[in-house]
Amino acid sequence: MATSPQLQDRPRVLVVGGGYVGLYVALKLQNKIANAGGIVTLVDPLPYMTYQPFLPEVAGGNIEARHAVVSHRQHLKQTELIQGSVTSIDHANRTAVVAPADGGGHIEIPYFDIVIAAGAITRTFPIKGLADKGIGLKTIEEAVALRNKVLERIEVASTMTDPAARAKALTFVVVGGGFAGIECITEMEDLARAAVRNNPRIKQEEVRFVLVEAMGRIMPEVTAPQAEWVVEHLRSRGIEVLLNTSLDSAEGSLKLINLPDKSFAQEFEADTLVWTAGVQANPMIRSSDFPLEPRGRVRVLPDLRIAGDEGIIENAWAAGDIAAVPDLTGSGLPDGTCVPNAQHALRQAKRLAKNLWASRWDKPLKDYKHKNLGAVAGFGEWKGVANISLVGRIGLKGPLAWLAHRGYHGMAMPTVERKIRVIFGWILAFFMGRDTTPLVHLDNPRGAFAAAAAPPKPAAAAAPAADTREVAAAARPGSAEATKVDPKQSVTADAK
Ligand SMILES: Cc1cc2nc3c(=O)[nH]c(=O)nc-3n(C[C@H](O)[C@H](O)[C@H](O)COP(=O)(O)OP(=O)(O)OC[C@H]3O[C@@H](n4cnc5c(N)ncnc54)[C@H](O)[C@@H]3O)c2cc1C
Repeated sequence: MATSPQLQDRPRVLVVGGGYVGLYVALKLQNKIANAGGIVTLVDPLPYMTYQPFLPEVAGGNIEARHAVVSHRQHLKQTELIQGSVTSIDHANRTAVVAPADGGGHIEIPYFDIVIAAGAITRTFPIKGLADKGIGLKTIEEAVALRNKVLERIEVASTMTDPAARAKALTFVVVGGGFAGIECITEMEDLARAAVRNNPRIKQEEVRFVLVEAMGRIMPEVTAPQAEWVVEHLRSRGIEVLLNTSLDSAEGSLKLINLPDKSFAQEFEADTLVWTAGVQANPMIRSSDFPLEPRGRVRVLPDLRIAGDEGIIENAWAAGDIAAVPDLTGSGLPDGTCVPNAQHALRQAKRLAKNLWASRWDKPLKDYKHKNLGAVAGFGEWKGVANISLVGRIGLKGPLAWLAHRGYHGMAMPTVERKIRVIFGWILAFFMGRDTTPLVHLDNPRGAFAAAAAPPKPAAAAAPAADTREVAAAARPGSAEATKVDPKQSVTADAK
Protein backbone atom coordinates (compact mmCIF):
# COMPACT_ATOMS: atom_id res chain seq x y z
CA MET A 1 0.00 0.00 0.00
CA ALA A 2 1.41 3.39 -0.97
CA THR A 3 0.81 6.98 -0.03
CA SER A 4 -1.34 8.64 -2.70
CA PRO A 5 0.67 11.00 -4.94
CA GLN A 6 -2.29 13.41 -4.55
CA LEU A 7 -1.44 13.99 -0.89
CA GLN A 8 0.51 17.02 0.25
CA ASP A 9 3.97 16.27 1.63
CA ARG A 10 3.76 18.33 4.83
CA PRO A 11 3.44 17.51 8.56
CA ARG A 12 -0.20 16.55 8.86
CA VAL A 13 -3.00 16.94 11.39
CA LEU A 14 -5.32 14.13 10.30
CA VAL A 15 -8.96 14.69 11.25
CA VAL A 16 -11.02 11.49 11.08
CA GLY A 17 -14.63 12.56 10.45
CA GLY A 18 -16.03 15.91 9.36
CA GLY A 19 -19.16 16.19 11.51
CA TYR A 20 -19.53 18.62 14.40
CA VAL A 21 -16.11 17.98 15.91
CA GLY A 22 -14.19 17.51 12.67
CA LEU A 23 -15.63 20.57 10.96
CA TYR A 24 -14.87 22.87 13.90
CA VAL A 25 -11.40 21.46 14.55
CA ALA A 26 -10.50 21.96 10.88
CA LEU A 27 -12.04 25.45 10.79
CA LYS A 28 -10.08 26.52 13.87
CA LEU A 29 -6.74 24.97 12.86
CA GLN A 30 -6.52 25.08 9.07
CA ASN A 31 -4.94 28.54 8.72
CA LYS A 32 -2.65 28.25 11.74
CA ILE A 33 -1.29 24.87 10.68
CA ALA A 34 -0.92 25.95 7.03
CA ASN A 35 0.94 29.13 8.05
CA ALA A 36 3.29 27.02 10.17
CA GLY A 37 4.12 24.84 7.16
CA GLY A 38 1.80 21.93 7.95
CA ILE A 39 -1.55 20.78 6.61
CA VAL A 40 -4.90 19.81 8.11
CA THR A 41 -6.34 16.79 6.28
CA LEU A 42 -9.98 15.85 6.82
CA VAL A 43 -11.28 12.41 5.83
CA ASP A 44 -15.01 11.75 5.69
CA PRO A 45 -17.15 9.54 3.44
CA LEU A 46 -19.50 12.52 3.07
CA PRO A 47 -18.58 15.84 1.45
CA TYR A 48 -20.51 17.72 4.15
CA MET A 49 -21.17 18.06 7.85
CA THR A 50 -24.74 17.16 8.82
CA TYR A 51 -26.50 19.37 11.36
CA GLN A 52 -28.29 16.43 12.96
CA PRO A 53 -30.60 18.47 15.25
CA PHE A 54 -32.34 19.63 12.04
CA LEU A 55 -33.02 16.12 10.72
CA PRO A 56 -36.53 15.94 12.25
CA GLU A 57 -37.39 19.30 10.63
CA VAL A 58 -36.06 18.04 7.30
CA ALA A 59 -38.23 14.92 7.71
CA GLY A 60 -41.16 17.22 8.51
CA GLY A 61 -40.52 19.33 5.43
CA ASN A 62 -39.77 22.53 7.39
CA ILE A 63 -36.13 22.77 6.31
CA GLU A 64 -34.76 22.18 2.83
CA ALA A 65 -32.39 19.19 3.00
CA ARG A 66 -29.36 20.92 1.45
CA HIS A 67 -29.65 23.75 3.97
CA ALA A 68 -29.14 21.35 6.88
CA VAL A 69 -25.68 20.30 5.70
CA VAL A 70 -22.45 22.32 5.53
CA SER A 71 -20.16 21.79 2.56
CA HIS A 72 -16.58 20.90 3.53
CA ARG A 73 -15.24 22.15 0.21
CA GLN A 74 -16.91 25.57 0.51
CA HIS A 75 -15.88 26.23 4.09
CA LEU A 76 -12.56 24.46 4.56
CA LYS A 77 -10.50 26.15 1.87
CA GLN A 78 -7.13 25.60 3.59
CA THR A 79 -7.85 21.98 4.47
CA GLU A 80 -6.86 18.96 2.38
CA LEU A 81 -10.11 17.04 1.88
CA ILE A 82 -10.34 13.33 1.18
CA GLN A 83 -13.73 11.76 0.59
CA GLY A 84 -13.45 8.28 2.00
CA SER A 85 -13.63 6.18 5.16
CA VAL A 86 -10.79 5.56 7.54
CA THR A 87 -10.71 1.79 7.93
CA SER A 88 -7.81 1.37 10.36
CA ILE A 89 -5.29 3.40 12.34
CA ASP A 90 -1.79 2.34 13.34
CA HIS A 91 -0.82 5.12 15.71
CA ALA A 92 2.43 3.43 16.70
CA ASN A 93 3.54 4.07 13.10
CA ARG A 94 1.48 7.27 12.67
CA THR A 95 -0.48 6.01 9.66
CA ALA A 96 -4.16 5.61 8.82
CA VAL A 97 -5.67 3.54 6.02
CA VAL A 98 -8.46 5.12 3.97
CA ALA A 99 -10.95 3.49 1.59
CA PRO A 100 -11.50 6.34 -0.88
CA ALA A 101 -14.98 7.13 -2.18
CA ASP A 102 -13.71 6.75 -5.75
CA GLY A 103 -13.74 2.99 -5.15
CA GLY A 104 -10.01 2.66 -5.86
CA GLY A 105 -7.49 0.83 -3.71
CA HIS A 106 -6.95 1.75 -0.07
CA ILE A 107 -4.42 4.49 0.59
CA GLU A 108 -2.13 4.96 3.55
CA ILE A 109 -1.93 8.44 5.05
CA PRO A 110 0.98 9.42 7.29
CA TYR A 111 0.34 11.99 10.00
CA PHE A 112 1.91 13.84 12.87
CA ASP A 113 -1.23 14.48 14.99
CA ILE A 114 -4.54 12.65 14.72
CA VAL A 115 -8.00 13.84 15.81
CA ILE A 116 -10.61 11.11 16.19
CA ALA A 117 -14.02 12.62 15.37
CA ALA A 118 -15.96 9.83 13.65
CA GLY A 119 -19.04 10.24 15.87
CA ALA A 120 -21.63 7.57 16.50
CA ILE A 121 -23.86 5.26 14.47
CA THR A 122 -27.39 4.05 15.14
CA ARG A 123 -27.54 1.31 17.78
CA THR A 124 -29.92 -1.54 16.99
CA PHE A 125 -30.75 -4.93 18.44
CA PRO A 126 -31.15 -8.27 16.68
CA ILE A 127 -34.89 -7.90 16.01
CA LYS A 128 -36.31 -10.01 13.17
CA GLY A 129 -37.19 -7.94 10.10
CA LEU A 130 -35.83 -4.66 11.53
CA ALA A 131 -32.90 -4.37 9.13
CA ASP A 132 -35.21 -4.92 6.12
CA LYS A 133 -38.13 -2.76 7.18
CA GLY A 134 -36.71 -0.02 9.43
CA ILE A 135 -35.06 3.29 8.73
CA GLY A 136 -32.97 5.44 11.11
CA LEU A 137 -32.73 9.20 11.51
CA LYS A 138 -29.01 9.88 11.54
CA THR A 139 -28.37 11.04 7.98
CA ILE A 140 -29.81 13.67 5.69
CA GLU A 141 -30.72 10.95 3.18
CA GLU A 142 -32.85 9.17 5.80
CA ALA A 143 -34.64 12.44 6.65
CA VAL A 144 -35.37 13.13 2.96
CA ALA A 145 -36.59 9.57 2.44
CA LEU A 146 -38.90 9.83 5.47
CA ARG A 147 -40.53 13.04 4.27
CA ASN A 148 -41.13 11.57 0.84
CA LYS A 149 -42.41 8.31 2.29
CA VAL A 150 -44.98 9.98 4.57
CA LEU A 151 -46.32 12.07 1.67
CA GLU A 152 -46.18 9.24 -0.84
CA ARG A 153 -47.96 6.75 1.44
CA ILE A 154 -50.78 9.24 2.09
CA GLU A 155 -51.23 9.88 -1.64
CA VAL A 156 -51.12 6.18 -2.52
CA ALA A 157 -53.46 5.18 0.34
CA SER A 158 -56.03 7.71 -0.84
CA THR A 159 -56.86 5.53 -3.87
CA MET A 160 -56.73 2.18 -2.05
CA THR A 161 -60.02 0.40 -1.47
CA ASP A 162 -58.75 -2.50 0.65
CA PRO A 163 -59.13 -1.29 4.30
CA ALA A 164 -56.21 -3.41 5.57
CA ALA A 165 -53.79 -2.14 2.92
CA ARG A 166 -54.97 1.41 3.51
CA ALA A 167 -54.45 1.14 7.29
CA LYS A 168 -50.99 -0.33 6.76
CA ALA A 169 -49.98 2.53 4.46
CA LEU A 170 -51.29 5.10 6.92
CA THR A 171 -49.59 3.70 10.03
CA PHE A 172 -46.31 5.37 11.02
CA VAL A 173 -44.29 3.91 13.89
CA VAL A 174 -41.29 5.40 15.69
CA VAL A 175 -39.28 3.29 18.14
CA GLY A 176 -37.36 5.35 20.73
CA GLY A 177 -38.70 8.09 22.97
CA GLY A 178 -35.57 10.22 23.24
CA PHE A 179 -35.26 13.68 21.74
CA ALA A 180 -34.75 12.42 18.20
CA GLY A 181 -37.74 10.04 18.33
CA ILE A 182 -40.18 12.57 19.79
CA GLU A 183 -39.11 15.32 17.42
CA CYS A 184 -39.33 12.88 14.52
CA ILE A 185 -42.84 11.58 15.24
CA THR A 186 -44.25 15.05 15.93
CA GLU A 187 -42.72 16.58 12.79
CA MET A 188 -44.02 13.64 10.74
CA GLU A 189 -47.47 14.00 12.30
CA ASP A 190 -47.54 17.73 11.53
CA LEU A 191 -46.51 17.04 7.93
CA ALA A 192 -49.06 14.24 7.53
CA ARG A 193 -51.91 16.40 8.91
CA ALA A 194 -51.05 19.13 6.40
CA ALA A 195 -50.97 16.61 3.54
CA VAL A 196 -54.29 15.06 4.59
CA ARG A 197 -55.92 18.52 4.70
CA ASN A 198 -55.10 18.79 0.98
CA ASN A 199 -56.48 15.35 0.16
CA PRO A 200 -60.28 14.94 0.34
CA ARG A 201 -60.04 11.13 -0.01
CA ILE A 202 -58.36 10.66 3.39
CA LYS A 203 -59.78 11.44 6.82
CA GLN A 204 -57.48 12.70 9.60
CA GLU A 205 -58.61 9.88 11.90
CA GLU A 206 -57.37 7.26 9.42
CA VAL A 207 -53.74 8.29 9.94
CA ARG A 208 -52.14 6.43 12.85
CA PHE A 209 -48.96 7.39 14.69
CA VAL A 210 -47.42 5.07 17.30
CA LEU A 211 -44.45 5.84 19.54
CA VAL A 212 -42.82 2.80 21.19
CA GLU A 213 -40.55 3.36 24.19
CA ALA A 214 -38.95 0.63 26.29
CA MET A 215 -38.56 2.77 29.42
CA GLY A 216 -41.31 4.04 31.70
CA ARG A 217 -40.72 7.65 30.59
CA ILE A 218 -39.63 9.59 27.53
CA MET A 219 -37.03 12.34 26.97
CA PRO A 220 -34.48 11.93 29.79
CA GLU A 221 -33.13 15.40 28.90
CA VAL A 222 -36.17 17.19 30.44
CA THR A 223 -37.66 16.99 33.93
CA ALA A 224 -40.13 14.22 34.83
CA PRO A 225 -43.13 16.63 34.97
CA GLN A 226 -42.14 18.03 31.55
CA ALA A 227 -41.82 14.51 30.14
CA GLU A 228 -45.31 13.70 31.45
CA TRP A 229 -46.61 16.89 29.82
CA VAL A 230 -45.03 15.81 26.53
CA VAL A 231 -46.80 12.42 26.73
CA GLU A 232 -50.14 14.18 27.30
CA HIS A 233 -49.37 16.59 24.48
CA LEU A 234 -48.62 13.73 22.06
CA ARG A 235 -51.79 11.90 23.06
CA SER A 236 -53.84 15.08 22.58
CA ARG A 237 -52.58 15.06 18.97
CA GLY A 238 -53.74 11.47 18.51
CA ILE A 239 -50.24 9.97 18.75
CA GLU A 240 -50.33 6.65 20.62
CA VAL A 241 -47.55 6.57 23.23
CA LEU A 242 -46.67 3.05 24.37
CA LEU A 243 -44.32 3.15 27.37
CA ASN A 244 -42.61 0.05 28.83
CA THR A 245 -43.09 -1.49 25.41
CA SER A 246 -40.60 -3.01 23.00
CA LEU A 247 -40.53 -4.09 19.36
CA ASP A 248 -40.19 -7.87 19.34
CA SER A 249 -40.39 -8.55 15.61
CA ALA A 250 -40.83 -6.61 12.39
CA GLU A 251 -41.10 -9.64 10.16
CA GLY A 252 -44.39 -9.24 8.31
CA SER A 253 -46.42 -7.35 10.89
CA LEU A 254 -44.99 -5.47 13.88
CA LYS A 255 -45.17 -7.42 17.13
CA LEU A 256 -44.90 -5.44 20.36
CA ILE A 257 -44.30 -6.82 23.84
CA ASN A 258 -44.74 -5.37 27.32
CA LEU A 259 -41.66 -4.86 29.47
CA PRO A 260 -40.36 -6.24 31.72
CA ASP A 261 -42.47 -9.44 31.57
CA LYS A 262 -42.28 -9.69 27.73
CA SER A 263 -46.00 -10.47 27.49
CA PHE A 264 -47.85 -9.80 24.22
CA ALA A 265 -48.84 -6.16 23.77
CA GLN A 266 -50.03 -5.51 20.20
CA GLU A 267 -49.63 -6.71 16.64
CA PHE A 268 -50.38 -4.62 13.57
CA GLU A 269 -49.03 -3.78 10.13
CA ALA A 270 -47.21 -0.58 9.22
CA ASP A 271 -45.39 0.51 6.08
CA THR A 272 -43.21 3.00 7.96
CA LEU A 273 -40.96 2.01 10.85
CA VAL A 274 -38.42 4.52 12.16
CA TRP A 275 -35.76 3.41 14.64
CA THR A 276 -34.28 6.11 16.90
CA ALA A 277 -33.57 3.99 19.99
CA GLY A 278 -30.03 5.08 20.72
CA VAL A 279 -26.56 5.45 19.26
CA GLN A 280 -23.21 3.74 19.77
CA ALA A 281 -19.64 4.88 19.21
CA ASN A 282 -18.52 4.41 15.62
CA PRO A 283 -17.13 0.83 15.47
CA MET A 284 -14.34 1.89 13.07
CA ILE A 285 -12.31 2.85 16.13
CA ARG A 286 -11.98 -0.85 17.04
CA SER A 287 -9.56 -1.12 14.11
CA SER A 288 -7.04 1.10 15.84
CA ASP A 289 -4.44 0.75 18.56
CA PHE A 290 -6.20 3.30 20.82
CA PRO A 291 -7.51 2.39 24.29
CA LEU A 292 -11.29 1.94 24.43
CA GLU A 293 -13.69 1.88 27.38
CA PRO A 294 -16.44 -0.76 27.83
CA ARG A 295 -18.94 1.14 25.62
CA GLY A 296 -16.47 1.22 22.75
CA ARG A 297 -15.54 4.90 23.05
CA VAL A 298 -11.95 6.19 22.98
CA ARG A 299 -10.56 6.97 26.42
CA VAL A 300 -9.52 10.60 26.76
CA LEU A 301 -8.33 12.93 29.51
CA PRO A 302 -10.27 16.12 30.31
CA ASP A 303 -7.81 17.99 28.03
CA LEU A 304 -8.98 15.70 25.17
CA ARG A 305 -5.70 13.81 24.68
CA ILE A 306 -6.14 10.07 24.26
CA ALA A 307 -4.77 8.14 27.24
CA GLY A 308 -4.72 4.51 28.30
CA ASP A 309 -3.47 2.58 31.29
CA GLU A 310 0.10 3.26 30.18
CA GLY A 311 -0.49 7.01 30.24
CA ILE A 312 -0.90 9.71 27.62
CA ILE A 313 -0.63 8.74 23.96
CA GLU A 314 1.26 11.58 22.30
CA ASN A 315 -0.22 13.41 19.29
CA ALA A 316 -3.60 11.66 19.59
CA TRP A 317 -6.84 13.51 20.34
CA ALA A 318 -10.54 12.71 20.37
CA ALA A 319 -13.88 14.41 21.10
CA GLY A 320 -17.61 14.15 20.44
CA ASP A 321 -19.80 11.07 20.38
CA ILE A 322 -16.89 8.69 19.80
CA ALA A 323 -14.97 9.82 22.90
CA ALA A 324 -15.54 9.18 26.61
CA VAL A 325 -14.83 12.73 27.77
CA PRO A 326 -14.92 13.18 31.56
CA ASP A 327 -17.67 15.60 32.60
CA LEU A 328 -15.96 17.77 35.21
CA THR A 329 -19.26 19.45 36.20
CA GLY A 330 -20.54 16.13 37.56
CA SER A 331 -23.80 16.42 35.61
CA GLY A 332 -23.03 13.90 32.86
CA LEU A 333 -23.77 10.21 32.39
CA PRO A 334 -23.68 7.85 35.38
CA ASP A 335 -20.12 6.81 34.41
CA GLY A 336 -18.99 10.44 34.79
CA THR A 337 -18.59 11.18 31.08
CA CYS A 338 -20.27 13.84 28.93
CA VAL A 339 -23.65 13.15 27.36
CA PRO A 340 -23.19 12.60 23.61
CA ASN A 341 -24.73 15.74 22.17
CA ALA A 342 -23.99 18.64 19.86
CA GLN A 343 -23.66 21.09 22.73
CA HIS A 344 -20.63 19.20 24.03
CA ALA A 345 -19.27 18.21 20.59
CA LEU A 346 -19.02 21.83 19.44
CA ARG A 347 -17.35 23.08 22.62
CA GLN A 348 -15.03 20.08 22.88
CA ALA A 349 -13.93 20.71 19.29
CA LYS A 350 -12.99 24.29 20.09
CA ARG A 351 -11.09 23.26 23.24
CA LEU A 352 -9.36 20.43 21.36
CA ALA A 353 -8.18 22.80 18.60
CA LYS A 354 -6.78 25.23 21.19
CA ASN A 355 -5.03 22.46 23.13
CA LEU A 356 -3.58 20.84 20.03
CA TRP A 357 -2.16 24.20 18.93
CA ALA A 358 -0.83 24.89 22.45
CA SER A 359 0.85 21.47 22.51
CA ARG A 360 2.84 22.44 19.41
CA TRP A 361 4.40 25.30 21.37
CA ASP A 362 4.76 23.41 24.67
CA LYS A 363 2.18 25.67 26.30
CA PRO A 364 -0.10 24.40 29.10
CA LEU A 365 -3.32 22.65 28.08
CA LYS A 366 -6.71 23.41 29.60
CA ASP A 367 -9.35 20.90 30.65
CA TYR A 368 -12.73 20.78 28.95
CA LYS A 369 -15.51 21.85 31.29
CA HIS A 370 -18.98 22.89 30.22
CA LYS A 371 -22.16 23.10 32.25
CA ASN A 372 -25.09 21.82 30.24
CA LEU A 373 -27.27 24.69 29.02
CA GLY A 374 -30.36 22.46 28.93
CA ALA A 375 -32.36 21.27 25.97
CA VAL A 376 -34.83 22.66 23.44
CA ALA A 377 -37.10 20.53 21.26
CA GLY A 378 -39.53 21.37 18.46
CA PHE A 379 -42.66 19.27 17.92
CA GLY A 380 -43.85 20.74 14.61
CA GLU A 381 -45.03 24.30 14.04
CA TRP A 382 -45.55 26.37 17.22
CA LYS A 383 -45.16 23.35 19.51
CA GLY A 384 -42.24 22.27 21.67
CA VAL A 385 -40.68 21.90 25.09
CA ALA A 386 -37.54 23.47 26.58
CA ASN A 387 -35.53 23.06 29.75
CA ILE A 388 -33.01 25.91 29.81
CA SER A 389 -30.35 26.29 32.54
CA LEU A 390 -29.02 29.84 32.49
CA VAL A 391 -29.58 31.78 35.72
CA GLY A 392 -31.61 29.05 37.38
CA ARG A 393 -33.75 26.65 35.37
CA ILE A 394 -36.40 27.86 32.94
CA GLY A 395 -39.00 25.37 31.77
CA LEU A 396 -40.99 26.29 28.66
CA LYS A 397 -43.83 24.58 26.79
CA GLY A 398 -45.75 25.24 23.58
CA PRO A 399 -45.06 28.24 21.26
CA LEU A 400 -42.42 29.84 23.53
CA ALA A 401 -40.43 26.61 23.67
CA TRP A 402 -40.76 26.23 19.90
CA LEU A 403 -39.44 29.78 19.40
CA ALA A 404 -36.55 29.01 21.80
CA HIS A 405 -35.84 25.83 19.78
CA ARG A 406 -35.76 27.72 16.47
CA GLY A 407 -33.82 30.65 17.94
CA TYR A 408 -31.18 28.39 19.47
CA HIS A 409 -30.69 26.11 16.47
CA GLY A 410 -30.92 28.96 13.96
CA MET A 411 -27.94 30.53 15.71
CA ALA A 412 -26.12 27.24 16.38
CA MET A 413 -26.19 26.15 12.73
CA PRO A 414 -22.55 26.38 11.60
CA THR A 415 -21.53 29.16 9.17
CA VAL A 416 -23.36 32.41 8.47
CA GLU A 417 -24.27 31.29 4.97
CA ARG A 418 -26.16 28.19 6.23
CA LYS A 419 -27.87 30.14 9.05
CA ILE A 420 -29.23 32.58 6.44
CA ARG A 421 -30.48 29.77 4.17
CA VAL A 422 -32.29 28.04 7.05
CA ILE A 423 -33.81 31.21 8.52
CA PHE A 424 -35.00 32.48 5.12
CA GLY A 425 -36.55 29.05 4.49
CA TRP A 426 -38.52 29.37 7.73
CA ILE A 427 -39.66 32.88 6.80
CA LEU A 428 -40.79 31.72 3.33
CA ALA A 429 -42.68 28.77 4.84
CA PHE A 430 -44.37 31.14 7.32
CA PHE A 431 -45.85 33.19 4.47
CA MET A 432 -46.30 30.50 1.82
CA GLY A 433 -47.20 27.47 3.94
CA ARG A 434 -45.62 24.06 4.17
CA ASP A 435 -44.59 22.40 0.91
CA THR A 436 -46.23 18.97 0.81
CA THR A 437 -44.99 17.86 -2.62
CA PRO A 438 -43.38 14.41 -2.47
CA LEU A 439 -40.47 13.65 -4.77
CA VAL A 440 -40.91 10.15 -6.15
CA HIS A 441 -38.60 7.61 -7.81
CA LEU A 442 -35.52 9.04 -6.04
CA ASP A 443 -34.27 5.48 -5.64
CA ASN A 444 -34.60 4.86 -9.40
CA PRO A 445 -34.12 8.17 -11.22
CA ARG A 446 -33.13 6.43 -14.49
CA GLY A 447 -36.34 4.41 -14.64
CA ALA A 448 -38.26 6.72 -17.00
CA PHE A 449 -35.27 7.23 -19.30
CA ALA A 450 -34.39 3.52 -19.35
CA ALA A 451 -38.00 2.66 -20.32
CA ALA A 452 -37.98 5.30 -23.07
CA ALA A 453 -34.56 4.30 -24.38
CA ALA A 454 -35.16 0.53 -24.36
CA PRO A 455 -35.73 -0.92 -27.83
CA PRO A 456 -39.46 -1.65 -28.40
CA LYS A 457 -40.39 -5.29 -27.96
CA PRO A 458 -41.81 -7.07 -31.05
CA ALA A 459 -45.63 -7.11 -30.65
CA ALA A 460 -45.83 -10.91 -31.00
CA ALA A 461 -43.25 -11.44 -28.26
CA ALA A 462 -44.90 -8.96 -25.90
CA ALA A 463 -48.18 -10.89 -25.42
CA PRO A 464 -50.44 -13.48 -27.03
CA ALA A 465 -52.66 -12.13 -29.83
CA ALA A 466 -55.94 -12.03 -27.86
CA ASP A 467 -54.36 -10.15 -24.94
CA THR A 468 -52.64 -7.68 -27.27
CA ARG A 469 -56.03 -6.60 -28.62
CA GLU A 470 -57.38 -6.01 -25.12
CA VAL A 471 -54.34 -4.05 -23.97
CA ALA A 472 -54.38 -1.88 -27.10
CA ALA A 473 -58.08 -1.15 -26.68
CA ALA A 474 -57.66 -0.40 -22.97
CA ALA A 475 -54.92 2.06 -23.82
CA ARG A 476 -57.30 4.12 -26.03
CA PRO A 477 -58.72 6.90 -23.81
CA GLY A 478 -62.48 6.58 -23.42
CA SER A 479 -62.69 3.04 -24.79
CA ALA A 480 -65.05 0.69 -22.96
CA GLU A 481 -62.14 -1.66 -22.24
CA ALA A 482 -60.19 1.17 -20.64
CA THR A 483 -62.65 1.17 -17.75
CA LYS A 484 -61.86 -2.51 -17.10
CA VAL A 485 -58.37 -1.58 -15.83
CA ASP A 486 -58.42 -1.88 -12.05
CA PRO A 487 -57.37 1.54 -10.68
CA LYS A 488 -56.16 -0.07 -7.44
CA GLN A 489 -53.73 -2.24 -9.35
CA SER A 490 -52.35 0.63 -11.39
CA VAL A 491 -51.76 2.73 -8.25
CA THR A 492 -50.03 -0.15 -6.53
CA ALA A 493 -47.83 -0.65 -9.55
CA ASP A 494 -46.89 3.04 -9.50
CA ALA A 495 -46.02 2.84 -5.84
CA LYS A 496 -43.56 0.08 -6.50
C1 LIG B 1 -31.95 13.20 14.93
C2 LIG B 1 -30.93 13.80 15.86
C3 LIG B 1 -31.23 14.95 16.56
C4 LIG B 1 -30.29 15.52 17.43
N1 LIG B 1 -30.65 16.65 18.11
C5 LIG B 1 -29.75 17.21 18.95
C6 LIG B 1 -30.09 18.39 19.66
O1 LIG B 1 -31.19 18.93 19.52
N2 LIG B 1 -29.16 18.92 20.49
C7 LIG B 1 -27.92 18.35 20.66
O2 LIG B 1 -27.10 18.88 21.43
N3 LIG B 1 -27.58 17.22 20.01
C8 LIG B 1 -28.45 16.63 19.16
N4 LIG B 1 -28.11 15.49 18.49
C9 LIG B 1 -26.78 14.86 18.72
C10 LIG B 1 -25.66 15.54 17.93
O3 LIG B 1 -26.03 15.75 16.59
C11 LIG B 1 -24.38 14.71 18.03
O4 LIG B 1 -24.07 14.56 19.38
C12 LIG B 1 -23.22 15.37 17.30
O5 LIG B 1 -23.46 15.41 15.92
C13 LIG B 1 -21.89 14.63 17.58
O6 LIG B 1 -20.87 15.23 16.83
P1 LIG B 1 -19.63 14.34 16.32
O7 LIG B 1 -18.73 15.27 15.57
O8 LIG B 1 -19.07 13.58 17.45
O9 LIG B 1 -20.25 13.29 15.33
P2 LIG B 1 -21.02 13.53 13.96
O10 LIG B 1 -21.56 14.90 13.87
O11 LIG B 1 -21.96 12.38 13.82
O12 LIG B 1 -19.88 13.40 12.85
C14 LIG B 1 -19.20 12.19 12.60
C15 LIG B 1 -18.62 12.27 11.18
O13 LIG B 1 -17.73 11.18 11.00
C16 LIG B 1 -17.90 10.67 9.70
N5 LIG B 1 -17.43 9.29 9.66
C17 LIG B 1 -18.09 8.17 10.01
N6 LIG B 1 -17.32 7.09 9.82
C18 LIG B 1 -16.13 7.54 9.35
C19 LIG B 1 -14.92 6.89 8.95
N7 LIG B 1 -14.78 5.55 9.01
N8 LIG B 1 -13.92 7.64 8.48
C20 LIG B 1 -14.04 9.00 8.41
N9 LIG B 1 -15.16 9.65 8.78
C21 LIG B 1 -16.19 8.93 9.25
C22 LIG B 1 -19.39 10.83 9.45
O14 LIG B 1 -19.69 10.81 8.06
C23 LIG B 1 -19.67 12.17 10.10
O15 LIG B 1 -19.53 13.23 9.18
C24 LIG B 1 -29.02 14.91 17.60
C25 LIG B 1 -28.71 13.75 16.88
C26 LIG B 1 -29.65 13.19 16.01
C27 LIG B 1 -29.30 11.94 15.25
